Amino acid sequence: MDLQNCRRCGALCLRDRSQYCAECAKWFADTYGQIRDYLRTYPNRTLWDVHKELDIPLSVVQQVIRFSEEERGGGDIGGREDQRRKRL
Ligand SMILES: [Zn+2]
Repeated sequence: MDLQNCRRCGALCLRDRSQYCAECAKWFADTYGQIRDYLRTYPNRTLWDVHKELDIPLSVVQQVIRFSEEERGGGDIGGREDQRRKRL
């Protein structure tokens, strides 16, 4: 099994399907859950709203979205929804 540096905290860890160490993967999953719950309650919010309402830095919101896309093979926050709305 290969070693890697966690992309968030830089800790040396075993390369898993994730690019993050177990601790950061858990943190991302928790933060992702928070954002998902928020978007369920308040649909059609922007990154900026999430950042302001949940007090999560914009860069972290973007990291979490990227994390969810990597973990789930195409995240369900924003992305495809936005593209569809633009075409309508
Ligand atoms: Zn880490």
